[in-house]
Amino acid sequence: MSERLRAGELVAVPTETVYGLAAHALDAEACARVFAAKGRPSYDPLIVHVLDLEAAREIAEFNTQALALAARFWPGPLTLILPKSPAVPDIVTSGRPTVAVRVPAHPVMRALLARCGLPLAAPSANPFGYVSPTTAAHVQAGLGDRIDHILDGGPCTIGVESTIVDARDPADPIVLRPGGLAREAIEGVLGRPVRTHTTAPRPADTPPTDPAGELAPGLLERHYSPRTPVALRDVPFPSEVLRQPPDGAARVFFARPAGADADRVSRRDDIHWLTEAGDLAEAAHNLFALMRALDAAGHARLEFEPAPTHGLGPAINDRLRRAAARG
Ligand code: AMP
Ligand code: MG
Repeated sequence: MSERLRAGELVAVPTETVYGLAAHALDAEACARVFAAKGRPSYDPLIVHVLDLEAAREIAEFNTQALALAARFWPGPLTLILPKSPAVPDIVTSGRPTVAVRVPAHPVMRALLARCGLPLAAPSANPFGYVSPTTAAHVQAGLGDRIDHILDGGPCTIGVESTIVDARDPADPIVLRPGGLAREAIEGVLGRPVRTHTTAPRPADTPPTDPAGELAPGLLERHYSPRTPVALRDVPFPSEVLRQPPDGAARVFFARPAGADADRVSRRDDIHWLTEAGDLAEAAHNLFALMRALDAAGHARLEFEPAPTHGLGPAINDRLRRAAARG
């Protein structure tokens, strides 16, 4: 596979967050093929994956706080936005002066990075806007007719995308996308609160109005979306829903409902949950696979309960909110 990447071909790769569609990041034509295969708009920049900090420093300019975050969380689900080196082609960054860089932890992806000795630009390996893939079978289902090579590394352990931090200003790092690394962990290393940037929602066919000023270009209102309409509730389900007869909608609890009705509901195909006992990492791991399974099951509507708002909860709720957005 490393030969194919060096030659400018695309390879779908496992990472601990979601499967990526990888291309030689310094080869503009290879990167253009990524946008074409995904149907991804050119204003949505790619994340560049590298083997280690040393390789990251060849494509991005680090400050002290960015170094502290990299030292603590790489390899892992943290993406840093930093000033880019001239070696990174404009197509990767959508013409921005910054680059998104990450050191992934998945052993198959690391072996590939070590072998090919290249930075790999890799967005999620799914058609633009659909639910991200967390197994090789998901990649095959979405892009199988458009790409030739898929590396199967098993189901992704984390199951949601990386946390993106704008780390350009060491005095004010900002979470641009909640993801597989909890904000509390980042705050623990930096020793102070970190804010989360919330972009004004934007429909999928609208590029950022001010490309230089827009912080998080690809974070569209509607994204990660099954074809079945999705609703995200503001509050947990009332226990009555367990006694209601099926009405065409599938309902997804955050955790397995307890109590008298619990045994009966485990046999219903319209009642599901993201985690057995309220574990946020388990819920994140299950989220996209369950969305896909329910999307294929022919329900009229998918209704989700919100996750708690700590740890990986904000990442889960962010994906659910975007899956539920119309537009
Ligand atoms: P993904 O679709 O998971 O590959 O994530 C890519 C996302 O990273 C994009 O949609 C952007 O929101 C963000 N991103 C990538 N590069 C940059 C950059 N230079 N500046 C700000 N955000 C970026
Ligand atoms: Mg994506």
